[in-house]
Amino acid sequence: ATPTSIMVGTGRAAELGVLFRRGEALQTLSSVQTVALDKTGTLTEGRPELTDLTVSTGFDQADVLRLVASVEVMSEHPIAKAIVRRAEQDGLQLVEVDQFTAETGFGVSATVSDRTILIGADRLMTREGIALDAFSDLRDDLAKQGKTPLFTAIDGQLAAVIAVSDPIKQSTGAAIAALHQLGLKVAMITGDNQGTADAIAAQLGIDTVVAEVLPEGKVTAIEALQSNGQKVAFVGDGINDAPALARADVGVAIGTGTDVAIEAADVVLMSGELNGVVNALHVSQMTMRNIR
Ligand code: ADP
Ligand code: MG
Repeated sequence: ATPTSIMVGTGRAAELGVLFRRGEALQTLSSVQTVALDKTGTLTEGRPELTDLTVSTGFDQADVLRLVASVEVMSEHPIAKAIVRRAEQDGLQLVEVDQFTAETGFGVSATVSDRTILIGADRLMTREGIALDAFSDLRDDLAKQGKTPLFTAIDGQLAAVIAVSDPIKQSTGAAIAALHQLGLKVAMITGDNQGTADAIAAQLGIDTVVAEVLPEGKVTAIEALQSNGQKVAFVGDGINDAPALARADVGVAIGTGTDVAIEAADVVLMSGELNGVVNALHVSQMTMRNIR
């Protein structure tokens, strides 16, 4: 492409709210065959709500929520915010916790007046030797509804299943249909539960799902999609998306996302909506067609 056509293209994209941080990205984007997307905050609003809280026999619902929220108030995770918001709405008095720790992809833990509280994904419970038997059907059920199931254990005893639900963004469905119309494959790469990811992907007609991955796992997933010389664009918003944004042939950050994601990206969508990706592809294809 000539410098002039690139300039015209990036100018047109900017009018559509798509910021090309690197001119080459405009060219590379036209040869992309797969668009991979992060789920939380990219396909979805990134603002989950607590929808379910089921306690084990012998545990009191309000008591469990109070303890869990007291721990989660220390975490920045959107799941944590959903739990704390619900506890506040219910007027529960939070207590001080000690020894708070957070572990990416697993969850959080802390002690509250000598009681040890664990909150997180099933793999955290499994790793800590806490059996999920009683709740594994409920977990699968919640996941099938597209909700994220979480567990909490108090002093090594499974105390509750919690579910949070994150609404799909308004423009996501139409954007995915448009990507398919352009002949592209659409993939989802997420740290969330496999069943939850599968349910949301089915709803949206997404072709491939990679779930329950850590940030480095997102890079591996991009590399797998790049096999046989395929060009891949990755769209994400979070700190945990930065390595994948850097590894993709074109990294696209959601403008309402974290600074870390924006810094790692080649393209920034000024609105939080996914039709920006479709606009970026259109401009890129038009620019490259003009110069052929
Ligand atoms: P993503 O942002 O893609 O969901 P994360 O690695 O942040 O990926 O989280 C993956 C999973 O780890 C979550 O779905 C949840 O099960 C668990 N998790 C992480 N942080 C927390 C937290 N503060 N409270 C409860 N669970 C958590
Ligand atoms: Mg995200």
